Amino acid sequence: MREALFYKQLEDNKVKCKLCPHECIIAEDKSGLCLGRENKDGKLYATNYGKTISLSMDPVEKKPLYHFYPGENILSIGPNGCNLRCKFCQNYTSSQEKVPTRDIDADQLLSYCKQNDSIGVAYTYTEPLIWYEYILDTAKILHENDKKVVLVTNGTINEEPLRKILPFVDAMNIDLKSMEDDFYKKVCSGFLEPVKNTIKTASKETHIEITNLVIPEYNDADENLNTMIDFLQNINPDIPLHISRYFPAYKLQAAPTPSSTLKKIYKMAKKRLNHVYIGNINIKNTMNTTCPECSELLIKRQGYFGIESKITKENTCHKCGHKIYGEHLYT
Ligand code: SF4
Ligand code: SF4
Repeated sequence: MREALFYKQLEDNKVKCKLCPHECIIAEDKSGLCLGRENKDGKLYATNYGKTISLSMDPVEKKPLYHFYPGENILSIGPNGCNLRCKFCQNYTSSQEKVPTRDIDADQLLSYCKQNDSIGVAYTYTEPLIWYEYILDTAKILHENDKKVVLVTNGTINEEPLRKILPFVDAMNIDLKSMEDDFYKKVCSGFLEPVKNTIKTASKETHIEITNLVIPEYNDADENLNTMIDFLQNINPDIPLHISRYFPAYKLQAAPTPSSTLKKIYKMAKKRLNHVYIGNINIKNTMNTTCPECSELLIKRQGYFGIESKITKENTCHKCGHKIYGEHLYT
């Protein structure tokens, strides 16, 4: 447990957490909405510090990151809790309720990375930004030891803490769930604007990729999708977009996304974005990386293993020399 960063003391021993846009006002002996921050004697503590729900080695493609060390493995850990309440959450047992955790400190993280030939650590599974203090402390140590720091996040964080942590982050996959604030409010108990802000700010500081989970009838309207494609194109058309298939989970029991919808969105996005992928379903050629300039097939993927890249050590297309967005794209 550590005293939290970004909070304000109020009257009656209450505190206001300023880490994310919920800005929870927390009474003594109570936790914030994310379950990870608690008021003790009028001070806010990160009670989730160093406590992980899981520890496993994953292919970096599984995060998903397709333009960051393809074919490598990364140690993946995550906190208990989340600052959103998505009705379709696949991880609701650990994001919405308290579950047992295990302690892991920076030295143990490093030794797991070395033993398992991991490029670094992915903070993932639930919402890592509610682990802010732990990530900040461990990321500094990982960087000192040439290990990478990856966040797989819903992007719901205030501007000041975001700017403070970005220098310690090498790559992010950020969920963009919809371009409608109403969707964020009604389906996720969140807000759209902070997520857009996180994407814009992070895109200038680190490697980012975006995931959009497509839920039939909820966020698959052409207008919403075109707005999302516009938004990403205006930031940088090279940012990879992962269109992900939804399956019923938790409180949302709509039918799984039809492959025809995913193919339609893929075609729409490919007209204006350079790197578009479909995930959570196997649709031929939609996991491959091609050169936006000459269309050469550069990385062929059939699942997460056996990945071979034809991208040069300078991150360029081996055929036409076009620079490809990403980091360490050769295998
Ligand atoms: S980080 Fe947690 S406690 Fe802080 S404002 Fe967000 S949900 Fe509330
Ligand atoms: S942001 Fe992710 S982990 Fe949190 S509730 Fe939504 S789907 Fe679950």
